[in-house]
Amino acid sequence: MTPSRRIVGMSGALALAVVLVLSAYGLGSRNAADNTHATAERQLQIMALDLEAVLDRFDTLPYSVAHLPMAAELLASPQNGVLRGALNGTLQDLALQAKVAAIYLMDKDGNTIAASNWDSPQSFMGQNFGFRPYFREAIQGKPGYFYAIGNTTSIPGYFISQAVYPVGVKRGVGAPVGVIAVKITLNNFEQTWRSNEDPIVLTDRQGVVFLSNRSAWNYHSLRVLEPAVQQDMGKTLQYVGKTISPIASLPAPARSGFGEHIARPVGRLGWQLMLFPAQSKVVRAGLLSGAVMLLVLLVAAALGAGYYQRNRRLEERSAAQHALKLAADGLEQKIAQRTQELLSANTQLATKYEKLQQTENLLRTTRNDMVQAGKLAMLGQMAAGITHELNQPLTAIRAFADNASTFLSRGNVAQADDNLRHISAASARMGSIVGQLKGFARKSPEAVSVVDVNRAVEGAALLLHSEFARLGVWLDLDMHEALQVLGDTVRVEQVLINLLRNALDAVEQSPCKGVRLVLEAQEQQVLIRISDTGSGLPEDVVKHLFEPFFTTKATGEGLGLGLAISSSIVQAMNGHLTASNRPEGGAEFLVTLPRCGAPMP
Ligand code: ADP
Repeated sequence: MTPSRRIVGMSGALALAVVLVLSAYGLGSRNAADNTHATAERQLQIMALDLEAVLDRFDTLPYSVAHLPMAAELLASPQNGVLRGALNGTLQDLALQAKVAAIYLMDKDGNTIAASNWDSPQSFMGQNFGFRPYFREAIQGKPGYFYAIGNTTSIPGYFISQAVYPVGVKRGVGAPVGVIAVKITLNNFEQTWRSNEDPIVLTDRQGVVFLSNRSAWNYHSLRVLEPAVQQDMGKTLQYVGKTISPIASLPAPARSGFGEHIARPVGRLGWQLMLFPAQSKVVRAGLLSGAVMLLVLLVAAALGAGYYQRNRRLEERSAAQHALKLAADGLEQKIAQRTQELLSANTQLATKYEKLQQTENLLRTTRNDMVQAGKLAMLGQMAAGITHELNQPLTAIRAFADNASTFLSRGNVAQADDNLRHISAASARMGSIVGQLKGFARKSPEAVSVVDVNRAVEGAALLLHSEFARLGVWLDLDMHEALQVLGDTVRVEQVLINLLRNALDAVEQSPCKGVRLVLEAQEQQVLIRISDTGSGLPEDVVKHLFEPFFTTKATGEGLGLGLAISSSIVQAMNGHLTASNRPEGGAEFLVTLPRCGAPMP
């Protein structure tokens, strides 16, 4: 994912989270508001019923008391102290039993002539309540109801009143002669409501709070009162001594909780029982819902992040494994390929090696055959020379033998003995020639041994001695002492004979006939230089000099194998054979062989 796409994604997720948290807050608030409202409604209903029950319970009490004959009798003779005392006692007893604040009797002008609290310091006795609406209602024959702060006691209370008719007069027929009133205090309700933390108020028709679990709100109005209403209240002394101001005008701590509310009508006087549910609960519930949603989202985000991380790790691991597998596969493939290549290279090498071996064998055979062929050809060519060579000592032997016989017959033993020694020397020489020929003709295996180069040179020179002598060619040998090479003596001699014979052939027609063999010792090599006074090597001859069967000689005189075989022998001994023309004329052949017993480089 690209960074910009990630930012867009994260912004979207954040916006969604905000929307969800706000929705949860709204939903929580609404739910809480609904719950609060429903709870408040139920509470209010219970409280209203409670209040109604109390008001109803005392509704008939003044009616019953008004029927007491003593009341009408006292109204008829208000000066009767005995009667008044009796009625006071009765009213006191009734108030005590009924648990009301006071029961009292007023004459037609509103003067109290008997009262349950006759003996209290704040007794109603003698007090005039003619200004009270409940009195005015009752004196007209109607039941009166009123709530006010007590004029005498300053204790607020609910007043219920009934007319009293003269004795013997039926209710509603004649005019009332007095009024019985019952005062009930509702302070107990305030006590009960205090257990509820939400404000609960009871207001009159004008919206003035007269009972509440918030004492600061009492005798304050829900709204600003009209001056006329204020005036009316002043006349009835309903809330005597109290200046009614709106709750909204109270200082902040005192009016706390005033606001949204629910209300139920209670009683006959247009009262409203009100409950102000605390909005903090709603806000708290909203915040709680929002917080829960936030927590859920955080947990979900953490789980999501964990899941994402885990997935990524798994993906990375699987990619690494895949890459590893690919690498391993590739490696295996490469190894297999390389192995195959090596195998095929090996096979090719083996084939080449086999071919090489075959070629080498072929070459070896060919070379041996050539060597052999060369030897035979040379034998043929040398047959005459050898015959001559053998003939010479043979003729000498015969002559020495004949002479020895003659010397013996003359008794010349010494001379005969001398001849015999010559015979022996001549036969030894013949044996030597035959020995050389035997060794040369034999197809000897490559017996590698230390070859004394001087001896080989001497051997070759001995073999060609008669040839050189016959053709009048001088042979100059420039020897060097103790020169050794590794190889086969016969073959070294064969090479030297080839080169000396070629030199002999080359100088045959020359006016100056000479062949020179020089041995040179270098640190690592032995050089055998054979030069002649012949006509040298023409350019077209040099190119083909070492090729087999190349010859410039007449048929029957040369096979053209000498140099090819010699070169092959020298190479087999890790040396080389080269040819060149001498500046002063004639050819020079140079045999270079590794020196045996040479100091190590
Ligand atoms: P062949 O002697 O049977 O001809 P070689 O291989 O020995 O075969 O010699 C090849 C040829 O090299 C000879 O025919 C000759 O022409 C030339 N050659 C060899 N040695 C000499 C030399 N010393 N001087 C001039 N030519 C030579």
